[in-house]
Amino acid sequence: MKLLLALYFFILAIIQTGLLLGIYHYYRSQNTVRPNIYWLTSLATSSLALAIFGGGIITIDDISRPEFNFTIGNTLFYIAAVSQALFCQSLNRDVSKATKIILGISAVLFLFIFEYLRNTSTFETRTAFMCVLAGFFYVWQILEIRLKRKSSPSSQLIYLQYASSAELFFAIGRLTILLIGALSIKQVEQIPQILILFTIAQLVMNTLSYIAIGSYWAEQIAFSSFKSNQENQEIKVLLRERETLIASLLKANKTASTGALSAAIAHELNQPLGASSLNIQFLQKKLSEGQLNPELEKEIFATLLSDNQRAAGIIRSLRSIFSDDKVGSSKIDLAELIEVVLNITKPEITAKSIQIVLSVEPHLLVQANRGEIQQVLLNLVNNAIQALITSSQPFKKLMIEARHVEGGVLLTVADNGDGIPESLQNQLFELLSSTKTSGMGLGLWLCKHIITRHGGSIEFVPNDSGGAKFIVTLPDAIELA
Ligand code: ADP
Repeated sequence: MKLLLALYFFILAIIQTGLLLGIYHYYRSQNTVRPNIYWLTSLATSSLALAIFGGGIITIDDISRPEFNFTIGNTLFYIAAVSQALFCQSLNRDVSKATKIILGISAVLFLFIFEYLRNTSTFETRTAFMCVLAGFFYVWQILEIRLKRKSSPSSQLIYLQYASSAELFFAIGRLTILLIGALSIKQVEQIPQILILFTIAQLVMNTLSYIAIGSYWAEQIAFSSFKSNQENQEIKVLLRERETLIASLLKANKTASTGALSAAIAHELNQPLGASSLNIQFLQKKLSEGQLNPELEKEIFATLLSDNQRAAGIIRSLRSIFSDDKVGSSKIDLAELIEVVLNITKPEITAKSIQIVLSVEPHLLVQANRGEIQQVLLNLVNNAIQALITSSQPFKKLMIEARHVEGGVLLTVADNGDGIPESLQNQLFELLSSTKTSGMGLGLWLCKHIITRHGGSIEFVPNDSGGAKFIVTLPDAIELA
């Protein structure tokens, strides 16, 4: 009889320990949906208590006066019941510090009370005392689960509520047997079969409630990974949308910057074309008058050729902006790119008497998207020109420097305009940050986007001699994403 009873306790202890070990492994591996610490504590103390009881029953002689290990075992059961109730409360709201302290003190008090009862009272009194206490915690547990079920329709919570209700039923059952039985038990063999049955049933239900909590937690993990999968998908869609938006902005900015320049470019193109047309008329007149000597003829044709080449050069420069270059990288020469951009902006530079100070090393090859890097340079140069136009600086200077640095190239575009106010410096590269009435605040944001995509960096520093300075670094060779 003793052995059989001990065996029940050991079996339940092994089941609960197995459950605990399995969960502990997950507890360490999970970061987001961790198994609740109250549940782990409850399971650990409960399995230990079962093992202590199993061992205690084998060696016990007089059950009305058991060994001290029964006080330890019962105190662990008390802690397990408290922790399980706290677990249920934590499903609905945080456990306050005061509750934790009060229940911690109650566990110590319990130890002393039980130790007193072990020495002074009977088996029946102690069992009844335990049933009443357990009943109190089961009721608390059931109320919390019912509350939680209102907001979380989980079948595992229903099982947990059933198991807790069954525990309460068996605890009340044991109490009733003790009250109406008028027993006086001294040996294990004297314990009525029905009382043993109810005790084991209560412990089995307790184990089932731990399993239900484990399944509830597994359900939460499955739900959270489903949710994070869904979120991943949503993020992917958002990233795709962001790329599309950026691509359209790139295009829009191209159109905006070229649109703003188009008048000046038309003016620049008009000059060689107008000169050519005048020269052709002059040539026709001289031909009809028969006054064309070989020297004059040579001179006119040379001027025509030079005007033609000038116009072709301007058109070549424009082609790279108007052509819709697809993302892709090639080896580009920065010195050549700087020349192209200065050609595009030449009309404004000349008209506003801006002096260009160039310090460009030859053979500055970078692996990059030509159209995009040209756009960055054009944005920086245009910004500098506009800053210089609005500045009262009598000698307007635009300085471009490009040189090799370790692992890549460094490009700076500086001007001696009025500079950038400190309040704007922090958000300079943010979208829609502009001080211009006609500005979109897109240029620097796009510059940063493009340069970052190329694995480089862009920053603003105040220019030493007043004005603004933008420093761009680009790595030697990088494959574009
Ligand atoms: P936008 O030119 O459309 O305003 P940007 O993003 O190119 O947009 O520039 C943002 C703001 O940064 C400008 O409005 C201007 O106030 C300031 N800024 C940029 N470059 C310079 C510069 N070289 N000197 C002074 N201010 C500048």
